[in-house]
Amino acid sequence: MEFIPIASPRIGEEEAKAVYDVVKSGWISMGKKVKEFEDLISDYTGANYALAMNNGTSTLHAILIALDISNGDEVIVPSLAYISPINAILYQGATPILCDNDPLTYNVTKENIKNKITNKTKAFVTVDMKGLPVHYNTFKELSEETGIPFISDSAESFGAVYKNKKIGTQADVHSFSFFANKNITTGEGGMITTNNENIYKKLKIIRNQGQEGRYNHTFLGNNFRMTDISAAFGIEQLKKIDNLLNQKVKIAEKYTKSFSKNKNITPPYVPNYVNRPSWYMYSITVDQEVQRPLIDHLTKKNIETRLSFPPVHIQPYHKNRFDLKEKDFPEALKCYRSFIDIPIWADMGNLKQDFVVNEILSFLR
Ligand SMILES: *Cc1c(COP(=O)(O)O)cnc(C)c1O
Repeated sequence: MEFIPIASPRIGEEEAKAVYDVVKSGWISMGKKVKEFEDLISDYTGANYALAMNNGTSTLHAILIALDISNGDEVIVPSLAYISPINAILYQGATPILCDNDPLTYNVTKENIKNKITNKTKAFVTVDMKGLPVHYNTFKELSEETGIPFISDSAESFGAVYKNKKIGTQADVHSFSFFANKNITTGEGGMITTNNENIYKKLKIIRNQGQEGRYNHTFLGNNFRMTDISAAFGIEQLKKIDNLLNQKVKIAEKYTKSFSKNKNITPPYVPNYVNRPSWYMYSITVDQEVQRPLIDHLTKKNIETRLSFPPVHIQPYHKNRFDLKEKDFPEALKCYRSFIDIPIWADMGNLKQDFVVNEILSFLR
């Protein structure tokens, strides 16, 4: 069998044409196309406001700036997270307070976060792991009970549906990424959605060097802008999202059905409050002892796999700086050591999928 990659984006003539038109127009930096892309994202997610930025990490950083997170503040975030939110917290001089996650959904729970709240807590961050929405309503409750702002790192869940609504309005503010391996991409890119007008207005200033009017800097900001080139690309990508995600749902359901008979494999769990995960990744859980051997086997068969990102508490820099121990967050560690991401992309087709299934099932018989 030819090489089967873990993911493969749908990029075609439409994107090429859209970028060509922007180049020909003579305006390539942030302009009309960015605004159009934002309006479309706003329509798609149902959020009152959408703000485009140069990548997902920037959106998280900008959100923390907008929420006045600074020296001495604490922000709670799961250890099973990508490094972006943690580093953004550190850049603001605040302290990331890590917590563990649920063994069933792999997402953080209200209890995980609630247990870490102190009088220094200025915000908490949830992460939609692999594109599975967290149980948003429970965090919304927690935020209402405590007055602590709720930030969602939705980088992996664009297009996912929670309780019959697209992701983008459930938390106070959502951060999305359009990096090349996400469900829709602009190469590098990010988007914030929110219904909060104040946060939106601040973010708009922060994105553009803290300027209100040309060269009038009222705020400590940065250059977090997206280009019209990226936005034009993203507009074409957005047209494809529902078809792409529905295709991925079919693939995921077929995987889950095929693996559920094998007691050595745990397929991803989809709770009933999720109508549609975005299936950014499809990750099976296997015994820790067979994780690496299975990956080696699949590699030999030309099937690409991925390990998830290691939890933050075992990252060399963060482990040292905060004197963390491996056993501090056992569920996060267990996920890292038992997950295998396997190929899932809209156009992979039955033949390739059957080959992946058969190779996994025969190895774990
Ligand atoms: C991709 C990703 C990000 C960061 O996005 P970039 O656009 O690469 O900066 C943040 N969090 C999670 C969970 C991600 O998967």
